[in-house]
Amino acid sequence: MYIDTLLSEADWLITEEDYHPEKNQFYETLFTLANGYVGARGSLEQGSQTGSPGTYFAGVYDPTPVFFTELANAPNWLNVKIVANNESIELEKGRILKYKRTLDMKKGLLTQIFRWEGAKGQITRFEDYRLVHLNYKHVALLKGVIVPENYDGPFVVKSGLNGYVFNTGVIEQLLIKHFKLTEYEDREAEGIYLEMKSRLSGISVGEASKLKLSVPSERSVEIDVDKITEVLTFEAKKGQAYEFEKYVTFYTSRDVEDVKFHTLKELNTRVDQGSEVLLREHVSAWEQKWLDADVKIHGDEVAQRSLRFNIFHLIQSANEDDDRVSIPAKALHGEGYRGHIFWDTEIFMLPFFIYTNPRAARSLLMYRYHNLDAARENARIQGYKGAQFPWESADTGLETTPKELGNPLTGETVRIWTGEEEHHIVADVAYAVDHYYVATGDEQFLLKYGAEILLETARFWASRVQYDDRKKAYVIKKVIGPDEFHEHVDNNIYTNYMAKWNISKALEYIDRLKQKHTDSWDKLKKKIVLSSREIREWKTIANNLYLPYDEKTKLYEEFEGYFKLKEIDISGVDSTGLEKIVKDTKWIKQADVVMLHYLLGDYFDQETKKVNFHYYKRWTTHSSSLSPSIYAIMGIEVGNYRDVYQDFMRSTRIDLDDEQGNTSIGIHAASLGGAWQVAINGFAGMRIKNGMLSFKPWLPEKWGKLEFKVKWWGETLNVAITHETVELKLETTDPTRTVEVNIAQRVWRVKGGETCVISVCSQ
Ligand code: BGC
Repeated sequence: MYIDTLLSEADWLITEEDYHPEKNQFYETLFTLANGYVGARGSLEQGSQTGSPGTYFAGVYDPTPVFFTELANAPNWLNVKIVANNESIELEKGRILKYKRTLDMKKGLLTQIFRWEGAKGQITRFEDYRLVHLNYKHVALLKGVIVPENYDGPFVVKSGLNGYVFNTGVIEQLLIKHFKLTEYEDREAEGIYLEMKSRLSGISVGEASKLKLSVPSERSVEIDVDKITEVLTFEAKKGQAYEFEKYVTFYTSRDVEDVKFHTLKELNTRVDQGSEVLLREHVSAWEQKWLDADVKIHGDEVAQRSLRFNIFHLIQSANEDDDRVSIPAKALHGEGYRGHIFWDTEIFMLPFFIYTNPRAARSLLMYRYHNLDAARENARIQGYKGAQFPWESADTGLETTPKELGNPLTGETVRIWTGEEEHHIVADVAYAVDHYYVATGDEQFLLKYGAEILLETARFWASRVQYDDRKKAYVIKKVIGPDEFHEHVDNNIYTNYMAKWNISKALEYIDRLKQKHTDSWDKLKKKIVLSSREIREWKTIANNLYLPYDEKTKLYEEFEGYFKLKEIDISGVDSTGLEKIVKDTKWIKQADVVMLHYLLGDYFDQETKKVNFHYYKRWTTHSSSLSPSIYAIMGIEVGNYRDVYQDFMRSTRIDLDDEQGNTSIGIHAASLGGAWQVAINGFAGMRIKNGMLSFKPWLPEKWGKLEFKVKWWGETLNVAITHETVELKLETTDPTRTVEVNIAQRVWRVKGGETCVISVCSQ
């Protein structure tokens, strides 16, 4: 009655229709609301025995055993509990007559409706929505109605700020409490305040809230361990609807010096503004985001909704106003991978931001720039030069990959080598810098920051390689490529080729700087103390880096010795069993050679890509969520369409279907970006060719049209693709503004004010 009228059309909604307590943590991840500054898992406001509530502030880490540091679970502000006529409403007890939660992705709302019958036969109806404000990043709101359907009696509404929260430790049974109480205060008419400080990193988090009811009530405050609760009591009448609003604000000492002052000031301002205004502004902020980021699929509602789910969570996860944070592998949605940041951001998520919100993309890259000194330190520690970005990164930019993972209860431990060996991340960051620059033309970024990253990463590779007399080439030994099933391998083709690319690109940018930006070049050269001899050395290395390749078959060998590995049958082996038996076999975890052929597409001919795709597809287990999207894109590129749609749907639905069985611990953020890339780089076939956008579409048969926008050098290009045509339009009527696009072997000049319709045949 109340909430449903708020909701958008069906292809914007994800719903949970029945209540299954064992699925609480899964839905908490799917229903996480965030704004890049803070994320709140979609836990029930009533609380539950099986849930795992989480509030995470981007960049608020605290040291922890084994994992170095982790995103610390901050006080939970979601609580709204009701005691109706002396009976506490708890979904695990009593009888649920109706239950529905809906994530409205268009408006950024999570709604809940239930009718619940208690032991005494009392039926209560509850409906609410919640939001984490997209504009006002320090604000959240819950609003709803409560109806005692068949009884009168006293009603108690309790709204808490609960700091008695934990992170899960090495194993689920071990809990770590990162925050200790520093202050709480009953502000009476101004609500309640709770402030806590992380134990070792010393970051203060202040949270304030105010509960309002539509009827006069009596107010009191309850204090418990690390928890403060505002309690409002009134006499409820049968059949009446009582409205409640819970305003919440938060700041951390990462943002401001006086946390309390700002948190309370923000609360007063937002309460004065009122919930209607806050809702309206939140919805219109989402509308703006969707204007740039939506991808419309005509003729396939499941694909449409699933793809939007990925875009929704990407939008939620970036904060363009904070360039000291990046997006963790599980975003702000859970504790998996401890809030650490991987290549997932630069290679999988960043393209979405480059083409829909370049400011956010720049912030993400600036996170790496701010950590450049730490990357230099990482290199030094491992005995290399230049900048070595860590495989797992957090607040300081130092390596945070755990050395081993163990179960203290069983004594079993597994050595983790990725922190010491998965070096391709260094080139991945450089690749992202170049990608951003080529697509935006952001010269200022390049000159002030990007060039330094490109050069320092090239310098890392020059120190990482060694000369092999027998091969008469430079080699890179003992690495882990994207395929993590094989450790300590020599000359992983992905790593070697990306390293070669990294050094060559740095040389290219040096030439450019020398010619066009002499001042910047002089400054940079001095700053990083780069000699002509070193540059000459880089050239020699880039020209002589060993690339395992068989000319007869056109196959790249994933790493030396790969072709000789065993070919065993793994049907029926589960994922844990798999990791134990695959290391001596050809089975691989995720796209590796195929990944390389995607990223550096211009360096390989079509036939080579095709042959390698066929070969490696057979051995890829897709045990990582980063894999199906890349196979979908490359399937289209090489004309192997058979599994494309299935791989696309798999990547869009990895979390919706809990494909990997671990959605409960956070969203697969890389896969969110991968799904978007399948739509744009796969189905629309978008690539950058010689500095120009190009499209080569292929649509699944049932799709009538694919529509989206991309930002390109400050312009916004509207793209609509059918099976027969590509329609391009610039988002300006100014005819002096143009974008050149390559389609069907021709260059088309799209002018502001004109629509360009190009005939293609996608099948
Ligand atoms: C994948 C990596 C990825 C990491 C974090 C691993 O399972 O193999 O490629 O970076 O997960 O998502």
